[in-house]
This record gives sequence, structure tokens and C-alpha cells, in this order.
Amino acid sequence: MVVAVYPGTFDPLTCGHMDIVERAASLVDELTVGIYENSAKQPLFPLEQRVRLVQEAITGLPNVQAKAFKGLTVDFIRQIGGRLMIRGLRANSDFEREFEMALMNRKLAPDIELLCLMTSSQYQFLSSTLIKEVAKLGGCLEGMVPDHVALALKEKFSMPGELAIGKGKM
Ligand code: ADP
Repeated sequence: MVVAVYPGTFDPLTCGHMDIVERAASLVDELTVGIYENSAKQPLFPLEQRVRLVQEAITGLPNVQAKAFKGLTVDFIRQIGGRLMIRGLRANSDFEREFEMALMNRKLAPDIELLCLMTSSQYQFLSSTLIKEVAKLGGCLEGMVPDHVALALKEKFSMPGELAIGKGKM
């Protein structure tokens, strides 16, 4: 049985993340989306809300669950009985950092294997950081984040007028 963890900040969850979740879920028996409690980034959304937004997005995926964790990702993977870490890779932007982290994790936990999935081309330039910028300025988030995430962003930035979904330009 292959048990895997897809760790991240998910601040907030994007369609790029969900693409990785769905593809990874089809490759493994059980997938846990692990949401960092102690992210080095300063998240816009509190931990509980980041977890809820992921939970809502994975309701149709029976072998996927979402859990917050603190401490080392490799320790969390061991705690849930997994041996595989999933990460997503966008062209140049992610490789060096992922490689550095992978080597450190290999040192800390040689028993945990890493599987990087290449982003799908339509999500190549999608990042949570960019999403927050666009949301802050009231831009259209259609096709970039699940609808419930777009709503949460709208509430966060108290955008005037209608929903950000399907409206406006970048
Ligand atoms: P972290 O703080 O660990 O980078 P993120 O939530 O930003 O957490 O990202 C979690 C994982 O998802 C990382 O492996 C990241 O490279 C990957 N990822 C982020 N955006 C995309 C995307 N658009 N397509 C594919 N993978 C992505």
C-alpha cells in the first residue's frame, strides 16, 4: 500500500495545487495533503482556514485527506505511516529549492522517497503569491483557484461589488 503526503503552505490552495493532488491521488492508495503549521512564509489565511479550504476541495476524492502538521515534514510522513513525499514543479522557479530540500530530507530521512510531478502547462505561472496579488486588486480568478477559495479571498480583501469569479482582468 502506497501512502503519500503532499506538503505545503497552501495559502491559499490553487488549481495548480489541485492538479497535483488529483494526479498524485491516482498514483497512490492514500494521499494526505499536509498543511504546515509553522510555515516560514507569513500566511494570509490562518491555519484552520487553509485546512478547511483544502478539505472542501477534496470532498470528491475518497483517498485524499487534509491534515495540519508542525515540525519536520519527514517526521509527519512517518507518523502517518507513509514513505513518499509529493511535490509539484513549475519550470525554473521551483527546481533549485526543491532539489536543496530533497537533499536535506534525504539526509534526515533516507527511507522517505520524493516524487515531483511537473505542473500542467496551464498552471505553469500560477502561484499562491500571485493569486493573492490579483485578488487584492480585484482581478478575475476564474480557472486559477476553486470557487470557494475565490470567495474566501474576496471576503479577505472585502472586494466591493460582485464576486471576483468570472469578472475583471488582470
Ligand atoms: P511551499 O511553501 O512548501 O512551497 P506551496 O503551497 O507554495 O508550499 O506549494 C506546495 C507545493 O505545490 C510545492 O511543491 C510547489 O512547488 C507546488 N506548486 C505550487 N504551485 C504549483 C503549480 N501552479 N503547479 C504545480 N505545482 C505547484
